[in-house]
Amino acid sequence: MDCWVCERTALGACRFCGRGTCRDHAKTHPFLLDVFRGNKHSSLRALVVEDALHCGVCTPRGEPVDLPELE
Ligand SMILES: [Zn+2]
Ligand SMILES: [Zn+2]
Repeated sequence: MDCWVCERTALGACRFCGRGTCRDHAKTHPFLLDVFRGNKHSSLRALVVEDALHCGVCTPRGEPVDLPELE
């Protein structure tokens, strides 16, 4: 797999879209790992990785979207 931007060998894949990215073009972006319902709170809570690998090309949402159909 090669970097989406410069076509050199990629070091990793974007967590969001799967594009390859090299060290120069890799960025980080919080990634939503899991959603669960807390014990003390009845609302849904999210487990987030703060620095997941991001290709810098795609545009992940900054805020998790509502999933009312899973409630
Ligand atoms: Zn690159
Ligand atoms: Zn991406």
